[in-house]
Amino acid sequence: MPGFELFSDLERNQVNDVLDNGVLMRYGFDGMRKGHWKAKELEAELEKTFDSNHVQLVSSGTAAVSVALASAGVGAGDEVIMPTFTFVASFEAIMMLGAIPILVDIDDTLTLDPKAVEAAITSKTKAVMVVQMCGSMGDMDALRKVCDFHSLIFVEDACQAIGGSYKGQPLGSIADVGCFSFDFVKTITCGEGGAVVTNNKDFYTNADHYSDHGHDHIGSDRGAETHPFLGYNFRISELHAAVGLAQVKRLPEFIAIQKKNYSIIRDELAKIPEVTFRTVPEGGEESYSFLNFFLPDADTAQKVSVAFKESGIDVCWNYYQNNWHYIRKWDHLKDLKSLFPVSKEVKDGLEYLQTKSFEQSDAYISRNISCLIKLSWTEEEVLKRARIMADCISEICK
Ligand SMILES: *Cc1c(COP(=O)(O)O)cnc(C)c1O
Repeated sequence: MPGFELFSDLERNQVNDVLDNGVLMRYGFDGMRKGHWKAKELEAELEKTFDSNHVQLVSSGTAAVSVALASAGVGAGDEVIMPTFTFVASFEAIMMLGAIPILVDIDDTLTLDPKAVEAAITSKTKAVMVVQMCGSMGDMDALRKVCDFHSLIFVEDACQAIGGSYKGQPLGSIADVGCFSFDFVKTITCGEGGAVVTNNKDFYTNADHYSDHGHDHIGSDRGAETHPFLGYNFRISELHAAVGLAQVKRLPEFIAIQKKNYSIIRDELAKIPEVTFRTVPEGGEESYSFLNFFLPDADTAQKVSVAFKESGIDVCWNYYQNNWHYIRKWDHLKDLKSLFPVSKEVKDGLEYLQTKSFEQSDAYISRNISCLIKLSWTEEEVLKRARIMADCISEICK
């Protein structure tokens, strides 16, 4: 997955172009910049990639989620439904707005279970956020139906799934508003960066203004611009956008490499009867950034995970044991360890985490192993890796 593995002169030339010109900020300085608009160019490129009307670049994927929610009007006391299996950024971005993350079970897609979403809806629910974890997706038709029936905003975090698709549509472009991350370990990177993607003109205009202190971006004199509403600073810099501009043009190349490496390992593991793979909804195509598979039980998954480490197989995780991607170890959220006072609404809203258990999610995540697919592996390395992985699993399952 990490696009940094294949950094080349393309990225260097783009960055040097910004430095030679001297304008590191994405807005203003029209006279000085002599036609250099890296962030704007990258936004135009991403609109093509995601087949979407509007893209707003921001400073990170976490910022993208906050800006997306804010742009759709989500705020204090609103409940946002999200999965138990995701990166901590999901609840951070919700709580930054004073909204309440409502965690619900995943299913064998490793993303939101539409039935669990339905069951969690209350009069306070404002949005449902699917997280397209590890390169694949939720049942988007089923989730869309639930959102439409209850008039909820449908948000799609596709930070780990750039290049994947559902029924021919790019992941991240299917819900009402989508979010991407271009942090250092994502399939395409800016170093740090993110994007809000939408066909909703109002959401886009809100995101454009909100991510830049409320600037209306009318005319060519920043100081004279007005501020129709309150904003913040979630801007990306021209240096970061320049790296992304070089990387995004290489996305088809990166996805092809991921698919090739993924397929070699999957074909080898598929020969083992005890191995099953995550469900990809009908019409879905993964981005191949990760290969996810299940073992018969948690104990076997744990043993395989250890055997992989001892055999030099890196970048594979059993997320049940992981501090950052699964509810089980998010004690700082459950105990609300905030540096600053949190509103009563949020405190009360998170009470449920004291007692709620997530058996269905536990059953999937504890049996799952998730392997990052790297871009820099040679074919020989992938073949060898696949054989070692298969040997480890066969040995433990025999
Ligand atoms: C990486 C990631 C984010 C956050 O992106 P940053 O750019 O690191 O802030 C959010 N959600 C998911 C699923 C991610 O993988």
